[in-house]
Amino acid sequence: MTPPEFFHFCPRCGVRQASVPAGNPFLCGSCQLRYFFNPAVAAAVFIRRKSDGRILLIRRAKEPGLGKLAPPGGFIDFGETAEHAVAREVREEVGLELEGIAFLCSQPNAYLYAGLTYRVLDLFFVATASSENVVVDVHEVSGLDWYQPAQFQLDDLAFPSMKAAWQYWRSIPRDPA
Ligand SMILES: [Zn+2]
Repeated sequence: MTPPEFFHFCPRCGVRQASVPAGNPFLCGSCQLRYFFNPAVAAAVFIRRKSDGRILLIRRAKEPGLGKLAPPGGFIDFGETAEHAVAREVREEVGLELEGIAFLCSQPNAYLYAGLTYRVLDLFFVATASSENVVVDVHEVSGLDWYQPAQFQLDDLAFPSMKAAWQYWRSIPRDPA
Protein backbone atom coordinates (compact mmCIF):
# COMPACT_ATOMS: atom_id res chain seq x y z
CA MET A 1 0.00 0.00 0.00
CA THR A 2 1.02 3.59 -0.53
CA PRO A 3 0.33 6.44 1.95
CA PRO A 4 -2.44 8.08 -0.16
CA GLU A 5 -4.52 4.91 0.23
CA PHE A 6 -4.89 5.74 3.94
CA PHE A 7 -6.66 9.02 3.24
CA HIS A 8 -10.16 7.80 4.10
CA PHE A 9 -10.81 11.03 6.01
CA CYS A 10 -9.98 14.61 5.11
CA PRO A 11 -6.99 15.68 7.23
CA ARG A 12 -8.44 19.23 7.53
CA CYS A 13 -12.20 18.87 8.16
CA GLY A 14 -12.28 15.20 9.17
CA VAL A 15 -15.12 14.21 6.84
CA ARG A 16 -15.08 10.62 5.63
CA GLN A 17 -14.50 10.48 1.89
CA ALA A 18 -16.87 8.70 -0.47
CA SER A 19 -13.97 6.77 -1.95
CA VAL A 20 -10.26 6.35 -1.43
CA PRO A 21 -8.41 8.93 -3.55
CA ALA A 22 -7.48 7.40 -6.87
CA GLY A 23 -5.41 10.23 -8.25
CA ASN A 24 -3.33 13.19 -7.23
CA PRO A 25 -4.18 15.51 -5.56
CA PHE A 26 -6.53 14.31 -2.84
CA LEU A 27 -9.64 16.45 -3.12
CA CYS A 28 -12.01 16.60 -0.15
CA GLY A 29 -15.64 16.38 -1.19
CA SER A 30 -16.67 18.49 1.82
CA CYS A 31 -14.20 21.35 2.38
CA GLN A 32 -12.50 21.16 -1.05
CA LEU A 33 -9.05 20.72 0.44
CA ARG A 34 -6.57 19.89 -2.29
CA TYR A 35 -3.64 17.92 -0.94
CA PHE A 36 -0.83 16.98 -3.31
CA PHE A 37 1.10 13.78 -2.73
CA ASN A 38 4.75 14.32 -3.56
CA PRO A 39 7.72 11.96 -3.59
CA ALA A 40 10.00 11.87 -0.58
CA VAL A 41 13.48 12.99 -1.60
CA ALA A 42 16.63 11.05 -0.81
CA ALA A 43 20.27 11.58 -1.73
CA ALA A 44 23.14 9.13 -2.15
CA VAL A 45 26.74 9.54 -3.22
CA PHE A 46 29.31 7.46 -5.05
CA ILE A 47 32.51 8.28 -3.14
CA ARG A 48 35.85 7.91 -4.89
CA ARG A 49 39.05 7.22 -3.00
CA LYS A 50 41.82 9.61 -4.01
CA SER A 51 44.64 7.08 -3.87
CA ASP A 52 43.25 4.55 -6.33
CA GLY A 53 39.84 5.72 -7.59
CA ARG A 54 37.97 2.88 -5.89
CA ILE A 55 34.33 3.44 -4.90
CA LEU A 56 32.96 3.14 -1.37
CA LEU A 57 29.91 0.91 -1.05
CA ILE A 58 28.25 -0.02 2.21
CA ARG A 59 26.36 -3.22 2.96
CA ARG A 60 22.92 -2.34 4.29
CA ALA A 61 22.20 -3.46 7.87
CA LYS A 62 18.42 -3.12 7.61
CA GLU A 63 15.47 -3.46 5.26
CA PRO A 64 14.74 -2.58 2.60
CA GLY A 65 17.71 -4.03 0.78
CA LEU A 66 19.13 -5.81 3.85
CA GLY A 67 22.55 -7.25 3.02
CA LYS A 68 22.75 -5.52 -0.36
CA LEU A 69 25.37 -3.00 -1.43
CA ALA A 70 24.62 0.71 -1.69
CA PRO A 71 26.28 4.09 -1.92
CA PRO A 72 25.87 5.90 1.43
CA GLY A 73 22.86 8.20 1.66
CA GLY A 74 19.47 8.81 3.17
CA PHE A 75 16.40 11.01 3.24
CA ILE A 76 16.71 14.76 2.99
CA ASP A 77 15.42 16.75 5.96
CA PHE A 78 13.09 19.74 5.70
CA GLY A 79 15.07 22.87 4.89
CA GLU A 80 18.19 20.93 3.97
CA THR A 81 19.99 20.97 0.63
CA ALA A 82 20.71 17.64 -1.06
CA GLU A 83 24.44 18.38 -0.90
CA HIS A 84 24.23 18.96 2.85
CA ALA A 85 22.17 15.77 3.24
CA VAL A 86 24.74 13.54 1.52
CA ALA A 87 27.58 15.10 3.53
CA ARG A 88 25.60 14.57 6.76
CA GLU A 89 24.57 11.00 5.92
CA VAL A 90 28.12 10.05 4.96
CA ARG A 91 29.42 11.55 8.20
CA GLU A 92 26.80 9.64 10.21
CA GLU A 93 27.11 6.29 8.41
CA VAL A 94 30.83 5.98 7.71
CA GLY A 95 32.52 8.97 9.39
CA LEU A 96 34.02 10.43 6.21
CA GLU A 97 34.21 14.03 5.02
CA LEU A 98 33.60 14.76 1.33
CA GLU A 99 35.18 17.04 -1.25
CA GLY A 100 33.92 18.09 -4.66
CA ILE A 101 30.30 16.96 -4.24
CA ALA A 102 28.76 17.07 -7.73
CA PHE A 103 25.29 16.15 -8.95
CA LEU A 104 25.13 13.02 -11.12
CA CYS A 105 21.48 12.21 -11.90
CA SER A 106 18.07 11.54 -10.38
CA GLN A 107 16.05 8.33 -10.44
CA PRO A 108 12.58 7.49 -9.10
CA ASN A 109 12.45 4.76 -6.48
CA ALA A 110 9.89 2.84 -4.41
CA TYR A 111 10.87 2.32 -0.78
CA LEU A 112 9.05 -0.41 1.15
CA TYR A 113 9.22 0.43 4.86
CA ALA A 114 7.08 -1.05 7.66
CA GLY A 115 4.52 -2.37 5.21
CA LEU A 116 4.12 0.89 3.28
CA THR A 117 5.54 1.69 -0.14
CA TYR A 118 6.82 5.25 -0.27
CA ARG A 119 7.41 6.89 -3.63
CA VAL A 120 10.85 8.47 -3.57
CA LEU A 121 13.03 10.57 -5.84
CA ASP A 122 16.67 9.59 -5.36
CA LEU A 123 19.28 12.25 -6.13
CA PHE A 124 22.70 10.80 -6.89
CA PHE A 125 25.99 12.60 -6.42
CA VAL A 126 29.66 11.83 -6.90
CA ALA A 127 32.38 13.05 -4.53
CA THR A 128 35.87 12.37 -3.28
CA ALA A 129 36.69 11.32 0.27
CA SER A 130 39.00 13.75 2.01
CA SER A 131 40.27 10.97 4.28
CA GLU A 132 40.20 7.18 4.34
CA ASN A 133 39.47 6.63 8.05
CA VAL A 134 36.00 5.14 8.21
CA VAL A 135 33.88 4.95 11.39
CA VAL A 136 30.88 2.73 10.75
CA ASP A 137 27.41 3.19 12.24
CA VAL A 138 26.56 -0.47 12.89
CA HIS A 139 22.83 0.27 12.97
CA GLU A 140 22.90 1.36 9.33
CA VAL A 141 25.93 -0.41 7.92
CA SER A 142 26.92 -4.07 8.35
CA GLY A 143 30.07 -3.75 6.28
CA LEU A 144 31.83 -1.61 3.73
CA ASP A 145 34.64 -1.75 1.25
CA TRP A 146 36.32 0.23 -1.49
CA TYR A 147 35.45 -1.45 -4.77
CA GLN A 148 36.85 -1.47 -8.24
CA PRO A 149 33.92 -1.37 -10.69
CA ALA A 150 34.55 -4.96 -11.82
CA GLN A 151 34.44 -6.25 -8.23
CA PHE A 152 30.67 -6.25 -7.84
CA GLN A 153 27.65 -7.08 -9.96
CA LEU A 154 24.93 -4.62 -10.81
CA ASP A 155 22.40 -6.84 -9.02
CA ASP A 156 24.44 -6.57 -5.81
CA LEU A 157 23.14 -2.98 -5.50
CA ALA A 158 20.05 -2.59 -3.32
CA PHE A 159 17.63 -0.64 -5.53
CA PRO A 160 16.87 -0.26 -9.24
CA SER A 161 17.49 3.48 -8.89
CA MET A 162 21.06 2.77 -7.72
CA LYS A 163 21.66 0.39 -10.59
CA ALA A 164 20.44 2.96 -13.08
CA ALA A 165 22.57 5.73 -11.55
CA TRP A 166 25.64 3.50 -11.51
CA GLN A 167 25.13 2.52 -15.15
CA TYR A 168 24.63 6.16 -16.08
CA TRP A 169 27.83 7.21 -14.32
CA ARG A 170 29.78 4.39 -15.96
CA SER A 171 28.42 5.42 -19.36
CA ILE A 172 29.92 8.91 -19.18
CA PRO A 173 32.99 8.56 -21.44
CA ARG A 174 35.12 11.29 -19.86
CA ASP A 175 34.76 9.91 -16.35
CA PRO A 176 38.10 8.57 -15.13
CA ALA A 177 36.72 6.00 -12.62
ZN1 LIG B 1 -12.16 18.42 4.09
